[in-house]
Amino acid sequence: MPSFKTIHIVTSPDYLLHDTGGRDHPEQPERLKAILDKLDQGPLASGLVKVPPVPASREAVLEVHDDDYLLRFEDACLSGREYFGHTDNRICYDTWRVAFLSAGAGITGIDLIEADKAELVFCAIRPPGHHAEAGLPLGFCFFNNVAVAVRYWQKKYNRKRILIFDFDAHHGNGIQEIFDEDATAMYVSMHEHPTFSFPGTGWDYENGTGAGQGFTLNVPLPPGAGDDLVMQALEEKITPAVKEFNPECIVIAAGFDAHAVDDMSGLDWSTLVYGRLGTTIANWADQFTRARVLSILEGGYVPEALAASVETYLGGLSLVV
Ligand SMILES: [Zn+2]
Repeated sequence: MPSFKTIHIVTSPDYLLHDTGGRDHPEQPERLKAILDKLDQGPLASGLVKVPPVPASREAVLEVHDDDYLLRFEDACLSGREYFGHTDNRICYDTWRVAFLSAGAGITGIDLIEADKAELVFCAIRPPGHHAEAGLPLGFCFFNNVAVAVRYWQKKYNRKRILIFDFDAHHGNGIQEIFDEDATAMYVSMHEHPTFSFPGTGWDYENGTGAGQGFTLNVPLPPGAGDDLVMQALEEKITPAVKEFNPECIVIAAGFDAHAVDDMSGLDWSTLVYGRLGTTIANWADQFTRARVLSILEGGYVPEALAASVETYLGGLSLVV
């Protein structure tokens, strides 16, 4: 029987209150229910510790987003608007409060990790975050949860080299924008090529600007790319870059919409490749960060495939070898 390390799952039933308007919208509460049900019934269940998130403070969110953006978002939610910025970005009255709870999950995880109370943390949250820029909601995202977590880790614990690895099928334009000129956080994204995929950024020549030049690595994959190209990209491009960066901390933008059955992308990944991603990340963590990794959920829109992929990913990440 394989054995697995303890995984802390930061989640809250309040995440289900972010109402995106019914079954026509892909970013649904059912996504989280499917993940949590699957984890509770599977081989990892005995090693899971559920932790409620502490909401992010306004101050923590303001490290990433500007005040005007927060005021516009608050007004849109509390005045009963159905979307913010673009009709994709559906909101309800509760979205304002839930967004702080979503951004707070990473912070909750970081405090546990820094107190040596957790090694592996998975934030099962919504709304997702990696498309949100400092002043722009996009792609179902309002607060950039990963960026809020990274800024908190830098500021509160003075961490200098934070690796952000994003394996969502889509490029995390928001994360890239926020850390574009930053040499203390490296953004690595593997995604479907921007010619074919939302949001149209993440070309391989985008590699950071100013002091941040060389601290962004985009690895676009052609439509139809499967597990073999994922493993090749990890081996040839991503793992060497991670080694060179020598991270102190690892934050994963964990999106699962590259799965073959998920039509939000043209990528063709199997469920199993998420386990291999988990194992690869665990190896980096063993080498560089005392085995500590914070993962934050992004996309993945077919609940059954999402749940199976998350479980397989966490299995690879936590497997004791
Ligand atoms: Zn995505």
